[in-house]
Amino acid sequence: MDIFYLLLMLITISAAQYIGGMLVLKGTGWIKSSQEYFLALSAGFLLSLALVNLIPESLELSEMAPFYVILGFGILHLFEHTVFRHMHFGEEKHFHDVKKIAFVLPTFAGLFIHTIFDGIALSAVFLHEWSLGVLVFVGLMLHKLPEGLTIASVTIAANMKASSGHKVVLTLATGSFIGLLIVVFLEKISPELSGGLLGFAGGIALYICTADLIPEVNKSKKKLVPVTLFAGMFLYWLIVQLFHHH
Ligand SMILES: [Zn+2]
Ligand SMILES: [Zn+2]
Repeated sequence: MDIFYLLLMLITISAAQYIGGMLVLKGTGWIKSSQEYFLALSAGFLLSLALVNLIPESLELSEMAPFYVILGFGILHLFEHTVFRHMHFGEEKHFHDVKKIAFVLPTFAGLFIHTIFDGIALSAVFLHEWSLGVLVFVGLMLHKLPEGLTIASVTIAANMKASSGHKVVLTLATGSFIGLLIVVFLEKISPELSGGLLGFAGGIALYICTADLIPEVNKSKKKLVPVTLFAGMFLYWLIVQLFHHH
């Protein structure tokens, strides 16, 4: 399938992330009150996708797939919570008495790596099998507005000017395209890596839902948010029934 469609999807998820950030910088209210539902939908969707498609299909392609699943999961954890230590989704409610950059940087770095890995997962899966890639696109799309919200609210908590916050949000949105470049590079140097990359994408999806999104879902005080996780699983099932055939 044409790389044109992949680029179109990468542009769409980046735009959604950017819009999420801009809504917050402009003081729009609905995005803050609805973000937990998006996080829950995305978590349920990605969990199903990782466990039903990505990981099992990678096992068929490569004996090394389990290793790559763990590698994908582990690298994200390394960057989001071991190297940089202030990373969570949703509105920033911590206020620290530190310089602007010192407060924004760890969250930005964690989210930037996360965004690059979103791009890696989408590109690797789409180039392997386009219909599976479309499922990854849907799963990622569901949490892109809250991603933008997260970084924008961090810049506000750090007392940054809206114009500087805008630059931070825009820079974050470039991450997905770096993910595409990494996948294209890896497949150039080693075409047999395809099965491994699918497992790697499975590990990334598993990490995003279990370690990034579900903890935020569980923190929510809204009654319907935990139920929405199941709605995400159902949405996955529905889309697979309609569009994904082997
Ligand atoms: Zn925080
Ligand atoms: Zn993401």
